[in-house]
Order: sequence, then C-alpha cells, then structure tokens
Amino acid sequence: MSSTSKKSDKRGFSRIIGLSALKNRLGNIILTEDNSCVLLTGPTGSGKRKLANLIAQAWLCDNPTENGACEECASCHHFDQNNHFDYKELKPEDGKRIIPTDDVRSELKDLIMLPRLGKYKVILIDADGLNEQGQNALLKALEEPLRHTRFVLTASDPSRLLLTVRSRVVSLRVDRRSEEEICQILLEELSSADDNNHDCEQELAPAGRSGQAGEQELASADRRGQAGEQSLAPAGGCATLADKDLTFYARFSAGLPGRALELAHGGWFRELRAGTADIYFSLDKAKELDLFTVGSDFFKEHKDQADTALNIIQSLIRDELCLLWGANGTIVNSDLQGELQAAYERKLAVLTKKSEARDKSSGLMRWQADADPEGFSEEERELRIRLTHAAEVVEESREALQRNVNFELIITRLLLHLKRVAAGEDLIESRKNEKLS
Ligand SMILES: [Zn+2]
Repeated sequence: MSSTSKKSDKRGFSRIIGLSALKNRLGNIILTEDNSCVLLTGPTGSGKRKLANLIAQAWLCDNPTENGACEECASCHHFDQNNHFDYKELKPEDGKRIIPTDDVRSELKDLIMLPRLGKYKVILIDADGLNEQGQNALLKALEEPLRHTRFVLTASDPSRLLLTVRSRVVSLRVDRRSEEEICQILLEELSSADDNNHDCEQELAPAGRSGQAGEQELASADRRGQAGEQSLAPAGGCATLADKDLTFYARFSAGLPGRALELAHGGWFRELRAGTADIYFSLDKAKELDLFTVGSDFFKEHKDQADTALNIIQSLIRDELCLLWGANGTIVNSDLQGELQAAYERKLAVLTKKSEARDKSSGLMRWQADADPEGFSEEERELRIRLTHAAEVVEESREALQRNVNFELIITRLLLHLKRVAAGEDLIESRKNEKLS
C-alpha cells in the first residue's frame, strides 16, 4: 500500500497495539549493529508476521528510529510497494507446508551480493516451513554472518527448530494481547477496512504484505463474499460493530489479533456458534442415537473449524460455571443468556431429582449442604464437578484433534460425555483408560 493511503498517523512499531516491552526491545535491536537475526515466536494469529514486516522495513529504512521505519524514505516507499530490491521473503508455497531446501539455499546464496539501496539486505523466513535440511542450510548463513545481512524468522513452534539455530538468534515472544487491546485492534482494523472495502486486504496487513494472521484474515474475507458481508451488518464497519460485539470476538480470540479479525470478518463464525450452541443446549433432551447422527454430521460438516467449535463449547461450559458462581456479568455468550440459564436449571433439576430419589430409597439423611464453605448445595457442588469434567473432556478432544486421532471417534466420545453431564447420568470415570491415541 502506498504511504499516502495509510489512514493511521501511526508509524513503525507504534502501529502495534500492546506489546510495549517487546517494542522497546525492538527499538534497541534495530539501532545496534550486533544483532543480525531476530526470531519472533507466538501462536498462529499472534501478529508475529506483521511485526516481522515492521522489523524488516526498519532495517531497510534510511532513517530508522527506535520506533522503527520512517515510512517516508525511498527505501520505505519501495517496501510499501512490494518492490524492494534488498528484501526477500521465504515461505512455503500456497498449500505446501515445507520450503524446498534448494529454495532456501539459493535465496541465502543471493544474500552475498551487496545491497542496492541501503545498508542491509533483509530476508524474512517462515521458520515453521523449514525442515532439518533447510534449517542446516540456514545455520551456515547464521554461523558466518555477512555485515550487510539481516534475518527475521517467525515460528509458531520454536521447539521444532534445531538448538544450534536457536542459539544464534535473538528470540522474542509475541505475547497474547489483553481483551481491551484486542477490542482496540478490531476497532482500528475494521474501521480502516470499512473506509474502503477494496483496500481491505492491504489494510489488514499493514506494510503491504499479508502475514500469517493476515493470510487468515484474507482467507476469511474471501469466504465472506457478498452475502456474508450483508449478514454481518457491514462486515467490520466500526460504526455498526457495537462494543458488545467487539468484546464478544475479543473473548473468543484467546488474545490473538489474527483470530479476532478472522472471527469478526464473516458470518461463518456466528453460524458455527449458533449450530454448536443448538447441539449443546439439546444434549439432555436428545436421544443418544439422534445426537450421534445429527451432532456428528454437524461436526463433520465443519471439520475445518472443529477447533473453533470446541472453543465455543468450552465457552458455553464456562458460562454455565459463571451462572453457578453468580458471576453473570462475565458470561461470554451474553446473547444466549436465556438458553444458558434454562440449560443450567435443567441440569440442576435433574440432579436434585436424582439425589431425592437416592435419599428416599436409602432412607438416609441428606448431606449437610450448609457445611460447604462456598455455600453451594449438594446439587450445585455436583454440577460444578460435572461441568469441570465436561471442560476437561473438551480439552482432551482438542489435544486428540491435534494428534490426528480419528475425527469421528473424538466427536462421538465428546458428545457422549457431554450428554451424560447434561442428562445427569453417571459420568464415565475411567477416562484415562479410554482409547484416544
Ligand atoms: Zn524509511
């Protein structure tokens, strides 16, 4: 994007909301000669790619300050236009996970040539795409650094990197942002996208390049299409995005700006949440067989978004726990509070009935509920155990998904556990012995 099209007055690292300690460190790194390689780590959507671009631009800039690039010099102009001679990006091709080692070698070989514009040649490498050979090729370049080369690496999973590589880089973590910071990011990004929808892609990936988070944002912008834009009352217009919507997306984003933008950018998330919530609220009433067919079909249909669906279930469970604690103000799915309250009361009623029946048949006195330090009744305590159990099963399911365990098995098991929790049936205690590996 050209400098003139930038709608914000912010420049350099001040474009990044939050992360003040990290930005201070980056200022020092840019202005000192000693550091030739920076590794940014953080989960997908944390914004490390955007930051990596700003670092690269700052190293290339003719007049860098501790705040990064000036965004006015010839070098910055070329960078904005995506045609800087001394800048290269190395990442897997679309649809591929690994960068071919030959590509790594040839790009690194090109670094030998002196820069054409400024002091440095800069290469940005998506280190998640480097296999062991690729990393070894990179290692050589890091071991014998040229005065005029600078490296910016990004990695979601730095543990995959060879220790020898990690020992030669300045490693910096891109932390999760606070809820307020995410709201601010959403407001800024979405309002600038709304100013000019055609500019949307560029605005979402400032400095002209789509980063990891940016890529997701673009993908969801593609998915959104015309209809989607209408369904989410102007996709992203801050004028129409109420504070409660911002908070809603921020809470689901787990502190990751890329995820927040992806969620806010299409009708798909609201649809997924509506479908997931429908299943969750019908758990106690549904027949097991129906649940497994209808529920499984829904999840199969949304297999690519399974992780988000699990987040949604997790948030519903958490909200029910908030009701139990009387912390109604912190409910994430506040628009579903009526349904949540009803589901919560049904669960409690089933447990009350069950304990009454048990007391009657055994002829025993009830437990001394008032002995509970938190003042919970026996049924409330039981419900708390059950909801915590449900949350644990969701977490196990998420881990199993990451390990590529059979999808249908994961979902069936999850639904079975959740149904038992909702319907007041005996929990399956021996979870650890179940086969989920
Ligand atoms: Zn500049």
